[in-house]
Amino acid sequence: MDGCIFCKIANGEIPSNTIYEDNDFRVILDNGPATKGHALVLPKEHYADLFEIPEEKAAGAIKVAKKVAGLMKEKLACDGLNLVQNNGPVAGQTVMHFHLHVIPRYENDGQKILWNPT
Ligand code: 5GP
Ligand code: ZN
Repeated sequence: MDGCIFCKIANGEIPSNTIYEDNDFRVILDNGPATKGHALVLPKEHYADLFEIPEEKAAGAIKVAKKVAGLMKEKLACDGLNLVQNNGPVAGQTVMHFHLHVIPRYENDGQKILWNPT
């Protein structure tokens, strides 16, 4: 979709810190990370949110998140992990292109509020 930053990133038109990619998804590091390794699963096609994304594509995003979770455990030795997915400004969504946050957690990482800080 024209003017959508995550469409441009997901399709490689804007460079990003990519940690995983397949035909349908790109996983990038968040540029305002909540913790070390905070990643975003972006579908390459544009869907605004969970209401718009087809069921199979949403299931695909979870599959990718599971792969990335395994990588995080192995490479970052995280102690736990949050999956977060915001829908609508009222819920804290700031980029209107569906994305799944994969947030590695570490003992005493000090992170308490993960979304909708206002
Ligand atoms: P939301 O609040 O919509 O659930 O999450 C948007 C996330 O995207 C935020 O955590 C924010 O830091 C991240 N973000 C916004 N713009 C960019 C960008 O241009 N590049 C990257 N890597 N992350 C972004
Ligand atoms: Zn988009």
